[in-house]
Amino acid sequence: MQDQINNLPKRAKDKHKENKTFFTKLKKRPPKQLDYIMQELHAKEFERTDCLECANCCKTTGPLFTSKDIHRIAKFFRMKEQQFIENYLRLDEENDYVLQSVPCTFLGADNYCSIYDVRPKACSEFPHTDRKKFQQISNLTLKNVAICPAAYNIVEAMKKKIQF
Ligand code: SF4
Ligand code: SF4
Repeated sequence: MQDQINNLPKRAKDKHKENKTFFTKLKKRPPKQLDYIMQELHAKEFERTDCLECANCCKTTGPLFTSKDIHRIAKFFRMKEQQFIENYLRLDEENDYVLQSVPCTFLGADNYCSIYDVRPKACSEFPHTDRKKFQQISNLTLKNVAICPAAYNIVEAMKKKIQF
């Protein structure tokens, strides 16, 4: 798995142009069954990908923390929200709360998330490959294929399944 992760940025870069062209076409002409296709491809990929062997998303990029996330996680730690923010978060260029540093401070050496049950919504939904109207998050997916081996495989499978 680690070899696969190390090579991912280069493999994603090599596919970038092809992926961009594919997503441009997908946005213009999304198949009627796209939601169903994505559910199927996502489920199939995560049957063979074990996130506990990877954790690359938690190691290299962090989630955005919404106000609901902050409320829930601060409560879990029995902390005031402001204290939680001061200890762990910072505002990014778009004024969103993000982690002060990566790897995520809540990630264990065994790749388990210590706040799994209350983790940010963005973590529970990553890499978003089973979300509805998938064509709307093309730009995000173009970035995620360089971070997430599962997202990379799903996009490769999509290109085989959906021909324009
Ligand atoms: S979601 Fe993707 S990047 Fe994150 S641990 Fe799973 S396979 Fe790895
Ligand atoms: S909160 Fe948990 S799932 Fe989210 S990035 Fe940190 S370790 Fe990963």
